[in-house]
Amino acid sequence: MFSGASMINSGLILIIDDTPTNAKMLESMLKRNNFTPATASSGREGLAMIAEAPPELIILDIMMPEMDGFEVCRRLKADPKTADIPIIFISAMNETESIVTAFDIGGVDYITKPFQLREVQKRVESHLTLIRQRREIEALREQERQQFETINSMREKFIHAATHDLKNPLQLITGYTEVLRSDETFQSNPGLNYYLDAMRGGVQKILGLVGDMLDLIQMENSIDPSPELTDLHTFVDGTIKQYELPAQQKNIELLTDLPPQEVIANIDAKRMRQVLDNLVSNAIKYTPDDGHVMVSAFVEDSMLILKVSDTGLGIPEEYIDTLFQPFARVREREHMKQEGTGLGLSIVKTIIEQHHGDIEIESTAGEGTSFIITLPDVIHDPFA
Ligand code: ATP
Ligand code: MG
Repeated sequence: MFSGASMINSGLILIIDDTPTNAKMLESMLKRNNFTPATASSGREGLAMIAEAPPELIILDIMMPEMDGFEVCRRLKADPKTADIPIIFISAMNETESIVTAFDIGGVDYITKPFQLREVQKRVESHLTLIRQRREIEALREQERQQFETINSMREKFIHAATHDLKNPLQLITGYTEVLRSDETFQSNPGLNYYLDAMRGGVQKILGLVGDMLDLIQMENSIDPSPELTDLHTFVDGTIKQYELPAQQKNIELLTDLPPQEVIANIDAKRMRQVLDNLVSNAIKYTPDDGHVMVSAFVEDSMLILKVSDTGLGIPEEYIDTLFQPFARVREREHMKQEGTGLGLSIVKTIIEQHHGDIEIESTAGEGTSFIITLPDVIHDPFA
């Protein structure tokens, strides 16, 4: 990109040629066509003039004493401030070798001596048009990028503010339902208590949703996970402990199948815990009474493979591709009987991507589902 607005569309064309008659001829032709030419009689002088006032286009003679055109070109291309200025080389007829080199080092075109002035004029015009169009496109792109950034940050700020500001009043309502519950009027009236519970339940649901949305935004914003050496057994056992009770309540057997040896994995344990939390809670949620949920892990090469399987409702094939998108749910009766917002799996996917891993679903409707996570290069080898 060009720096400085002053030179944009300046129309300044610098001719660098050590032969005064050539330079003069080009200069007057350009003047006649309402361009603004300037001339330099050596590579060194040309470079100095360009540093002073960068032209829109350079017409550069190849054969010059001291510093030839190729060297001038190389220096211009090496400097980001001048690298984008198009260069048209001047070569003698039949210098095929030079012409190839001219293109190789970044020239956009060449003209041959003796000059065909009409042709030179057309070439100059078309290159100026090209560079101007390119600049316009770049400016538009930059504008779009800025607009996108503004919208994106507005969206994030909005969701953040909305969810954050929702939390306090919701917690306030929860608190007051507690106060009301202990009030005599409510205690002596089971009907009123029922309403209270319903209100409380509703508020809890909104709080859950708000929490998930905040999680997702936070996750999307903090790209880099913070991996730490984590003992796999402690990690899995610790995470699923809290699901023993909910599993028991549905008479679901919650099992683990872990490698016999100690495995140390380099993972962001806090985020990966969220992954396992979501998958295990889903498995229990979408498995009818008396089923099984299994968390297994194994190591393959230096990959860690985690699998959460259940004997539950399963996922119809047409849903599998979209289920990791926010708010996606299986719109079948048995699935919809369970409460949920459809954010869990999008959080899972984001975290797995942050670990450069992969997650896949294997499922047979009516029989069960497995979520299989592959995390590359996370196994810590103590002997490495
Ligand atoms: P949330 O987790 O946000 O409370 P949710 O559980 O509905 O709500 P996700 O965890 O994102 O949302 O799951 C999306 C959908 O995928 C669920 O609504 C459910 O239909 C389906 N699903 C997820 N896990 C399973 C599973 N183990 N068995 C069957 N269906 C599942
Ligand atoms: Mg869920």
